[in-house]
Amino acid sequence: MGKYRAVIGLEMHCELKSNSKVFSSARNSYNEIPNDNVRPVDMAFPGTLPVVNKKCVRDALMMSMVLNCEQPEYIYFDRKNYYYPDLPKGYQITQMASPVGVHGKIEIECDKKRIPVTIHDIHLEEDAASLDHYYDTSCIDYNRAGVPLLELVTEPCFSSAEEAVAFLEHMRSAYKYCGVSEADTKKGQIRCDVNVSIMDKEATEFGTRVEVKNINSFGNVYDAINYEIKRQSELKEQGRYDEVEQETRRFDEESGTTIRMRSKVDAIDYKYFVDPNIPKFKIEASWLEEIKKDIPMLALERKDKYMADYGLSDYDASVIVKEKEYADYFEKCIDLGIDAKKASNWLTTQILGEINHEEIGLSEFFLTPEYLKQIVDAIEAGTISSKQAKEIFYKAVEEKKEPKSFISSDMAQISNREELENIIVEILAKNAVQVEQYKNGKDNLFDYFVGQVMKETRGKANPVITKEILKQRLQ
Ligand code: ADP
Ligand code: MG
Repeated sequence: MGKYRAVIGLEMHCELKSNSKVFSSARNSYNEIPNDNVRPVDMAFPGTLPVVNKKCVRDALMMSMVLNCEQPEYIYFDRKNYYYPDLPKGYQITQMASPVGVHGKIEIECDKKRIPVTIHDIHLEEDAASLDHYYDTSCIDYNRAGVPLLELVTEPCFSSAEEAVAFLEHMRSAYKYCGVSEADTKKGQIRCDVNVSIMDKEATEFGTRVEVKNINSFGNVYDAINYEIKRQSELKEQGRYDEVEQETRRFDEESGTTIRMRSKVDAIDYKYFVDPNIPKFKIEASWLEEIKKDIPMLALERKDKYMADYGLSDYDASVIVKEKEYADYFEKCIDLGIDAKKASNWLTTQILGEINHEEIGLSEFFLTPEYLKQIVDAIEAGTISSKQAKEIFYKAVEEKKEPKSFISSDMAQISNREELENIIVEILAKNAVQVEQYKNGKDNLFDYFVGQVMKETRGKANPVITKEILKQRLQ
């Protein structure tokens, strides 16, 4: 198998977040009640007309810029004609001739290395309705009809399942950072087609590509690619490469294999033409500038910055940029003057531990960066020990009270050797009998002395120094 080189291209569909659908005023939200988010235009009633949702176009243009694509001068849409029961118009409104973005190029990270990815195009389109199949009937649910979809098509630029999935993860993160989609695979918001071919290592021409359609998780993308590489390689090895056909397959989760659906040798002719019901819309350069300004710094860029500027480890920086709200929290801490390493430690251990435990988002978490600063400052001032700091952290979170209210000036630990010596000398003098017994072999009295010191200092004596002094004095 290692004899061959794999070539992979991806098509990634991602549902956009918006109040209303891309061409109608129906709500765009998850709805358990079938046919509840529906307007007549979604059902293709005669005489209804589509109206383009400007917010969806804006978000699509934003992603086009994130991918460093070229944007067109005019926005318009095409009709892709085909018949399917969940497509009542008999065509899908999409972009073929003039997509929101073409010729993109980005860099992603895979296995700690940077690799270039080339983007063929990214275009805005509408989702189809969905079918629910029952024993002897099938029902159509129009809730999904007209949900905005961004389809992104890469060039065949990946050479392994790892690279392909790293790209999908990169894009999921970018969609979320830009706030244009929840990009939740569990909610079916991302669906992928993968195209796989193999070729001899020294060959200059690509092999025959096989398309595996409609994969709904990145794990399945990974498995489908590896299965196809293996299947095609084995056929080639056996001299049966002519059996690798240009075809469409699907991934079967149960067996972890791909199954042939149909041949793709004769491409379907969709008879594309410009949708005459949607006027051409000029994209002003000033609008593009505005959109560009709203693009936040993305995960990989922030990770590089955290490692270079604050000396965070690759691991810690990766954990922090995993979600934009983690990274924003971290940056707020820095703005407040909290030491970066300390902020990173609190965030990646206590704070993420707590929100995972409570199953909430960081934005819902009680302990804001401002509150964290109260704790960090108190440690720095020597008012509390780091052990006390953790206790205060959990108390504040539990009781939803600001950490300050648990910090008082008399909490300071006594670490001053001289001060402790004086206290200990006094205690030993008061307990002459026990000292005698200890010296005669009653070892377990040691803890008794420690206890007396703690009692005298109301728990504030530094335990390590206390034990050191006691050991010396009792020799
Ligand atoms: P279709 O409509 O047939 O799906 P597209 O142009 O939308 O065609 O998608 C083609 C996809 O196939 C792209 O992602 C492209 O990178 C990929 N691709 C093209 N040639 C190959 C190949 N030889 N091996 C693997 N992937 C390929
Ligand atoms: Mg395709």
